[in-house]
Amino acid sequence: MGEQLGVFGGTFDPLHVGHLACAEAARVALQLDRVVLVVAGDPWQKHGEVVASARDRLDMAAAAVEGLDGIEVSAIEIDRPGPTFTVDTLAALRTPGRELFLVVGADVAAAIETWHRAEDLPALASLVVVDRAGEPVQDGPAWSGTMTRVPMDAVDVSSTDLRERIRAGRSVEGLIPPAAVRLIVERGLYTAAR
Ligand code: ATP
Repeated sequence: MGEQLGVFGGTFDPLHVGHLACAEAARVALQLDRVVLVVAGDPWQKHGEVVASARDRLDMAAAAVEGLDGIEVSAIEIDRPGPTFTVDTLAALRTPGRELFLVVGADVAAAIETWHRAEDLPALASLVVVDRAGEPVQDGPAWSGTMTRVPMDAVDVSSTDLRERIRAGRSVEGLIPPAAVRLIVERGLYTAAR
């Protein structure tokens, strides 16, 4: 039997426990072999909002998933020059015998039609939309292919809030896995005002 691979992209600036819970919810619901967290190299829709370098975001994510079964991190979008387009990532990850599942939060799914070559995505992967409890369930995204909606319990964390907490000198323990917190402290990430 072939491999069923979840592909969960994000800026991960920084990665937090909400991201991991989301990846895990998709992995369990669809019985995926693995979910790969793909750290965006140059997220063109977030220009000016990304704070940490691609390398720092990748290292934090890699540290965060260390020891987790079935969840991994990929540098594929960081190693590829130019703006980060999911369509290129899926095309690169698609191999014979491997089925791809594009995992997105419902907020992100709602904007999927604005993505580069959005019309080509359904041929490359099935869509998995993770609905977070407590957030209004949005209408189905414009998606012509296979789609599954997966419910998850709310994990009320966002990267934006975490960056503000760090800047304010507040603790983020428990919200970001410990090995990633250590990296943030060692490298002095998110402390400068911007
Ligand atoms: P920001 O707070 O800066 O908007 P973010 O964490 O929402 O950051 P990304 O890192 O790009 O932004 O998110 C990647 C994916 O993780 C998206 O599909 C998003 O829906 C999902 N996600 C983000 N936060 C959570 C959360 N608390 N619980 C579940 N999924 C989440």
